[in-house]
Amino acid sequence: GELRLYRVHPFTTDELTRFENLLCALVYPLRNALSYRLAVERALRDPLTGALNRAALEEALQREVELARRQGTPLGVLFIDIDHFKQVNDTYGHHFGDDVLRAVAHAVSDTIRRSDALYRYGGEEFVVIASHTQPAGAQQLAERIRSNVAAIGTVGGRAMRITVSIGIAGQRSGETSDALLRRADGALYRAKENGRNRVESGDFEATGTC
Ligand code: GH3
Ligand code: MG
Ligand code: MG
Repeated sequence: GELRLYRVHPFTTDELTRFENLLCALVYPLRNALSYRLAVERALRDPLTGALNRAALEEALQREVELARRQGTPLGVLFIDIDHFKQVNDTYGHHFGDDVLRAVAHAVSDTIRRSDALYRYGGEEFVVIASHTQPAGAQQLAERIRSNVAAIGTVGGRAMRITVSIGIAGQRSGETSDALLRRADGALYRAKENGRNRVESGDFEATGTC
C-alpha cells in the first residue's frame, strides 16, 4: 500500500517526526497481518503442486457436506490417483516425478478452473470437491479430467504417457465427509482393478474409457 500526505506549506521537522512515529505504529500491525495471511496460505497449500493440502481438504469437505445437507444440494467427490507413478520415479528419478505431479495438478486445475477446488490428498493422489453437482455431472467432470491428463503428452520436453484412475461418489443423506471420501476411494480401487485410466463410480453402474 501507499500513503501520501500533501500540504501547500512544507511540514515542520516536528510534524515530520510525528508522522514517522504514526507510520511506525501503522506499518508493524500491517506487516503482521501480511505475515499472518502468508502463514495461513502456506499452512493450507501444497508447495510442490500449488493444490490445497489435506488439512484444507478435511476442513472444506466437512463444510461442504454440512452445507449440502442443509440446503439439499447434491455434492460429488472425485478421488484421483496417477497410474503406475512409482515406475515414473524408478525410471526417471524423483525430480522428474515431481514435474509429472505438477503437470497432472496443472491439467486437473485447468479442467475444473471455474467451478471446484483441487486438493492434494497425499503422494500422487488428488481430490476434487464438486459442489452443487449431480452424480452424472461428477461423472462427466471426472471423464474430462481423465482425458485431459491422458492428453498431456510431454513433460519437461520428454514424451510421456500419463494416465489417472478416478473414483467418484455423490453424497448420500446423513453421510459423514469421511464416509463419502471412503466411498470415492473404494470406487478408485475398482478403477485400478478394472484396468486403470478409467472412471468408476460409487453411486451407480460403472462406466469409463480405456
Ligand atoms: P497405481 O497405478 O496402483 O496407483 O501404482 P503407483 O505406482 O502409482 O502407486 P504406488 O502407491 O505404488 O506408488 C506411489 C508412488 O508415489 C510412490 C512414491 O514414491 C511416489 N510419491 C509420493 N509422493 C511423491 C512426491 O512428492 N514426489 C515424487 N516424485 N514421488 C512421490
Ligand atoms: Mg496412490
Ligand atoms: Mg498411483
